[in-house]
Amino acid sequence: MKNFEEKQKLLIVVDMVNGFLKGGPLHDKKINKITPIIDKEIQKFLKYEYDVIFLQDAHVGFPEEFNNFPPHCLKGSWEAETIDEFKKYLPNVTLIEKNTINGLEEAPLNNFLNQHENKYNEIRIVGDCTPYCIKTLADSLKKMYRYNKLRITVPSDATYTFGTCAKSADIEHEKALQEMQKNGVGIIKLQNNHDEINERI
Ligand SMILES: [Zn+2]
Repeated sequence: MKNFEEKQKLLIVVDMVNGFLKGGPLHDKKINKITPIIDKEIQKFLKYEYDVIFLQDAHVGFPEEFNNFPPHCLKGSWEAETIDEFKKYLPNVTLIEKNTINGLEEAPLNNFLNQHENKYNEIRIVGDCTPYCIKTLADSLKKMYRYNKLRITVPSDATYTFGTCAKSADIEHEKALQEMQKNGVGIIKLQNNHDEINERI
């Protein structure tokens, strides 16, 4: 097994799809502000030949979350498509679809991690929406690897959320970050970061 320091990082890009950024009942144009930051991060990971997963809503049937949110991102629809800005990366990343808020509740992501987990010393989660898909995934990963040195990190400037009322997006985003931090998730910042680890990747 490789030394911890020699291991890779895994980048999970969550729900950077039309239905949250471009149009549809759950989209919020403000989420587009994280696109260029995530874009740079994907480029860095691919340059180092590190693994990148696009974890995306592709709903079928009547999933539980449709009791709380309007139907969105139906499998095969325009809403469920990766945003145009990131389509160029699809040949070089692993696309995993999900029918739940927490991507770890379904087999595909679990299978991927079971096959690859010894490769990583960090799983970095970017995308949307902070209080839902990001937080549930980060907290579950933290729990799953609680006896492992693997770090789970969430950059505060590469995640965001739609707001349920005016001005609430910032508040809900910050609150979710604080809760994750309490659970042991590393909250980091990608922009203007001079941390050596982040310079390296
Ligand atoms: Zn959904």
